[in-house]
Amino acid sequence: MARYTGPVCKLCRREGQKLFLKGSRCMSPKCAIEKRNYPPGQHGRENTFRRGRASDFALQLREKQKVRRIYGILERQFRRYFRQALGRSGLTGENLLSVLESRLDNTVYRMGFAESRAQGRQLVQHGHFEVNGRRTNIPSYSVRPGDKVVVREGSRKRTYFKDVRDLMGERLIPEWVSINPQSLSGEVLRPPKRSDIEITINEQLVVEYYSR
Ligand code: SF4
Repeated sequence: MARYTGPVCKLCRREGQKLFLKGSRCMSPKCAIEKRNYPPGQHGRENTFRRGRASDFALQLREKQKVRRIYGILERQFRRYFRQALGRSGLTGENLLSVLESRLDNTVYRMGFAESRAQGRQLVQHGHFEVNGRRTNIPSYSVRPGDKVVVREGSRKRTYFKDVRDLMGERLIPEWVSINPQSLSGEVLRPPKRSDIEITINEQLVVEYYSR
């Protein structure tokens, strides 16, 4: 599956907020939002001052792009996720976020195996994980309650995972998963809920964008 491979800090600057795409750098003074919080491009800074009130469409579009960028998903797949959310009972916006959170690359990140979703995606693609005893290298794989995510035997000896064992305990883990740093494993306890997502998102605007 294709993915965006350009400079990611530009994406945060375009959205005017931290999207936490680069792991620990996002918490440091090196973060581009800390240093130059205006849209990228030659006229980015002047446009910030000139810009008037954004239209409803512009707000909806920006919110949709923001969510897409947080989870690193291209338009076609994102639209598919929206249709999936629409087909479920309950609030479509919340369903959409739950579907996105349930992706395996995000789960691996949320369990503390990776510093960012992009890194989680790479680790999954490189075949470092098993889900319920089966090697799974598809980042979009959707986890369900009861699923056990484990670092594969052959990958445990790697320096990266030895270091991760120490770091996992220090990372903030959401309530819908549990982890066991010693065995480099985690379990999905329940489907992710809206309240489990800390980053500021107005999912209703995304629903409005696709309901035009
Ligand atoms: Fe965004 Fe992180 Fe880059 Fe800051 S360091 S601009 S939060 S990706």
